[in-house]
Amino acid sequence: MIDLHCHIDLFPNPRELIAKCAQAGTYVLSVTTTPKAWRGTVALAQGNPRIRTALGLHPQVAHERLHEMALFEGLLPEARYVGEIGLDGSPAFRAYQSQQSKALDGVLSACSRAGGRILTLHSRRAVDEVLNALEKHCDAGIPILHWFSGTQAQLRRAVAFGCWFSVGPSMLAGEKGRRLVAAIPRERVLTETDGPFAMRDGRPLTPLDAKVAVGQLAELWRESGAETTSRLRDNLRTLASSDFAD
Ligand code: MN
Repeated sequence: MIDLHCHIDLFPNPRELIAKCAQAGTYVLSVTTTPKAWRGTVALAQGNPRIRTALGLHPQVAHERLHEMALFEGLLPEARYVGEIGLDGSPAFRAYQSQQSKALDGVLSACSRAGGRILTLHSRRAVDEVLNALEKHCDAGIPILHWFSGTQAQLRRAVAFGCWFSVGPSMLAGEKGRRLVAAIPRERVLTETDGPFAMRDGRPLTPLDAKVAVGQLAELWRESGAETTSRLRDNLRTLASSDFAD
C-alpha cells in the first residue's frame, strides 16, 4: 500500500500509527504544514525506511508562517520531498492570496536552485494559479497534484505539463472525482489518504485506508486489485528513482 500524502504528525498518536504502517508494509509520504514541524516529523519516521518526510509550507498557514521561509531554505538540502505546498483559493483563504503566492514562489525558487525536488501540491480553487507558478519555475522538480478538484480542462493542462496525481478514497467516492481520475494517464497516478483531514464514516483516514483507494481504482480501471497494486508500485518506483542532478 502507498499513501503519498498523509499528515502523520497531526494524528493524536503518530508513533502507534507508524508502528501499524510498518507492520502492514505501507509506504507513506509524511507531509508537514510548516518548516518548524520538519525535525520532529523526521524523527517520527526514524528507523522506518518506507516512511519519507516532506518539507512543507501549507497555503492555509502561509500568511502566518512567511517568516519561516529562511528556515525552509536552510532545511531544503536535507529534504528530497517538498510539501504540503500550493495555493488555496477557497473563500476562507482568498484574502491571503498574496502571502500564499509569495510563499509558493519562494519555495519553488528554492527548489529550482537546489536542483529540483518531488513536490506534493494543494490546488483547491487555484489550479490555474498553481500551474502558472509551476510553469514559471519549471526546474522546481516533479509536481504531484494531491486531491485534484479542478475541471477537465485544467486536468488536461496539468497532465500536459507533466504533473502526477495522488488520489484518495474521498476523491474517488464522488462521480466528479472518478471522471477526473479516469482521464489521468494511469502511469501518473498514486494513492493517498490526506489523513487526518480527510474522513470516512466519521473517522479520520489513516495510511492503512489507502487500500480503499486501491479497490476504487481497480474498479475504475476494470482490472484486478493485484494488477492495480502492482501498477501503483511501479509508478512509485518510477517517481522515487527520478534524478534531478543531471
Ligand atoms: Mn493535506
